[in-house]
Parts: sequence; C-alpha cells; structure tokens
Amino acid sequence: MKARFAGFEPVRRDRMVQETRHDPYQAKHKLPEPTVCPQCGAVFHDGRWQWLARPAGADEELCPACHRIHDGYPAGFVTVEGSFFKQHREELLHLVRNEETRAKAEHPLKRIMQIEDKDDGLLVTTTDIHLARGIGEALHHAYQGELEYHYNERENLLRVVWSR
Ligand SMILES: [Zn+2]
Repeated sequence: MKARFAGFEPVRRDRMVQETRHDPYQAKHKLPEPTVCPQCGAVFHDGRWQWLARPAGADEELCPACHRIHDGYPAGFVTVEGSFFKQHREELLHLVRNEETRAKAEHPLKRIMQIEDKDDGLLVTTTDIHLARGIGEALHHAYQGELEYHYNERENLLRVVWSR
C-alpha cells in the first residue's frame, strides 16, 4: 500500500491497536464531575462521557464530539467506493447508519458528522476514529471487498477506504 493521503501512513488492519494519547479534542484540563454537554446532553461521569440523566448542579462544557462538529473537524474519514457500492447504495448507507446508531447508543462520542456524495462513492466523516474503523469492519464483514486503513499519528486521524 502506498501513502494515498498526505500526512497519513497505511497501516495493517491487525496493527491498529496503539493509538496516540494526544488527541487535540481531549479536554486539556481535568473535567469536574459531573459535567454536562450543553449541546447533546451527554454527561461526563466516572472519567468518560455517557448518556445519563442530567444531574443537578453539573458544570457545562462541550463534549469532544460536539466540539468537533462545531469546528467541522472530523477524526475519522470513511471512503466507500466501487461499482458494487453504486448498485447497492441504499443498502450500504443503511448499514453505515446502523453502525453509528449501535456505537452511539453506548458511546456518546461516536457519531457520524456528514455523509457526502462523491463522484465515485461516499465520504463519511466521524467524530471518533473507532467509529470509522467500526464502519469499515462492518462493511467488510457484510460484503467483503477491500479495506484499507491510513493513520495520521500526529493528529490521531484515521482514514478508512472500503471498496468493492
Ligand atoms: Zn455533546
């Protein structure tokens, strides 16, 4: 695999384990608990963002997902392309959205930001690199095809390319 995206290195799928810790959207300070995101209502509790009822007297701060959405700065990019995709567009879109719904139910920071139509397919952007990987794995699991990962370690960004 050659470097297809500037700043990104191809990585083997089974090597995607060591993630850098310097995510620019992690809070720079230790968040008080509980903190509520005023945008989506997620609650920071026990050291992570969760879907909980809003606690009384909570601090307010944008969660990393809403912060990325506000800035238009995705962490994950999933390119879906190929003739099979074109013939099964709705079915594959459905699978992509299902994967988000499943992931987001448990992890408030795993969200799709946008699904853009491209000349040769789709570009799905996400607030979290693990959701991008999850979407790629779900497509590959359901429809095989080719799956590539390209990682930008400096900014902790992941590009996933699935084609069939
Ligand atoms: Zn939020």
